[in-house]
Amino acid sequence: MLSKLSGSLAKGRGVATTTRLTLAAHRAYSAAAVDSANGTSSSGSVHGAFHRALNATAPRTDWTRDEIASIYNTPLIDLTHASGTLHRRFHSPGAVQMCTLMNIKTGGCSEDCSYCAQSSRYQTGLKATKLSTVDSVLAAARVARDNGSTRFCMGAAWRDMRGRKSSLRNIKAMVEGVHALGLESCVTLGMLDEAQAKELKDAGLTAYNHNVDTSREHYPKVISTRSYDERLQTISNVRDAGIKVCTGGILGLGEKPEDHVGLLHTVATMPSHPESFPVNTLVPIEGTPLFKSTRIAFDAVLRTIATARLVMPTAIIRIAAGRVDMSEEKQVLCFMAGANAVFTGEKMLTTACSGWEEDLAMFKRWGLYPMKAHVEPVLRKTEELFQVDTSLLANVPTGAHDGTSATV
Ligand code: SF4
Repeated sequence: MLSKLSGSLAKGRGVATTTRLTLAAHRAYSAAAVDSANGTSSSGSVHGAFHRALNATAPRTDWTRDEIASIYNTPLIDLTHASGTLHRRFHSPGAVQMCTLMNIKTGGCSEDCSYCAQSSRYQTGLKATKLSTVDSVLAAARVARDNGSTRFCMGAAWRDMRGRKSSLRNIKAMVEGVHALGLESCVTLGMLDEAQAKELKDAGLTAYNHNVDTSREHYPKVISTRSYDERLQTISNVRDAGIKVCTGGILGLGEKPEDHVGLLHTVATMPSHPESFPVNTLVPIEGTPLFKSTRIAFDAVLRTIATARLVMPTAIIRIAAGRVDMSEEKQVLCFMAGANAVFTGEKMLTTACSGWEEDLAMFKRWGLYPMKAHVEPVLRKTEELFQVDTSLLANVPTGAHDGTSATV
């Protein structure tokens, strides 16, 4: 269920990044930049893919895996410059959404996701709970809103929603209440059928999170109790119900760089791109099979975010689990490369989370500001790309933050 941002998600480990930085890729970037300046195209080759990504005016869903690999393997300095440039075409570069994720039903899950603290198969010391009450969830949502979050996500550690009629009734009441607070609502409840998706849509749900986690090839090494295709079916049910899709991955599950390409290829070739792409890094939980995984290298995280921005220009890219271990400077590199949302609050499911005050202080230092709810990407004209609207910074609360106390 919480394939997603699950507790076990987590902290970096895994891939020793040995990305190949080729001279050909560097030439591809240079050629794309020259073509861009000349208004010409060089499609049909590796550098054609990079060119088309850099100059996109609309999302495309017919990426080949080789094309995405060629982008992913571009020298990082060029890759992040290109992704940051494209980011400005569709998004306000200073806007970062603060989202808060609440665990509304902890632990006791029957699945075997090998990163997850909430699986009943592993001895992690986590105490299983029942579904939270509607009132307690709405009280938490109010706190999140009052602190600046504009999206409230609710996660339950279930495999699926079969036989959970009364729980679904309560969750619908939570969704309606969150909506009434002016927040975007997102839930992650495991596998969902078409009728359940329709019920949640009717309750006003903004988005449903169901991560694919990793590439199709690496997936069986991480989870055996449900298939990659079952995950895709739930995502399809969500999309067909008219709910926005939130699906992403976890880096550091022992995968290789080509699995990051595979993950990106899966989501970027869906019939339409997910509106939300969370990037988690493994937070190793003692007692789970992946506890001793090798920590993921930051350049692999940055490369994944930058490539995601280039192949899915309109998605909101969320730095999710594991951010708490990232320095402020690393987070800002992610924002510059195209990430535009964070999870903020007291906790992120079962793992630690950066708090609102800390994030608002960081925003202030770097000229970022909290994104409003329900902001849609908009294609901007070239002459507008680097215009700065300082009035937006007025949204940044001042309060106790004087912008001088970087404590990361
Ligand atoms: S074990 Fe259960 S709660 Fe944990 S990620 Fe898997 S499905 Fe979600």
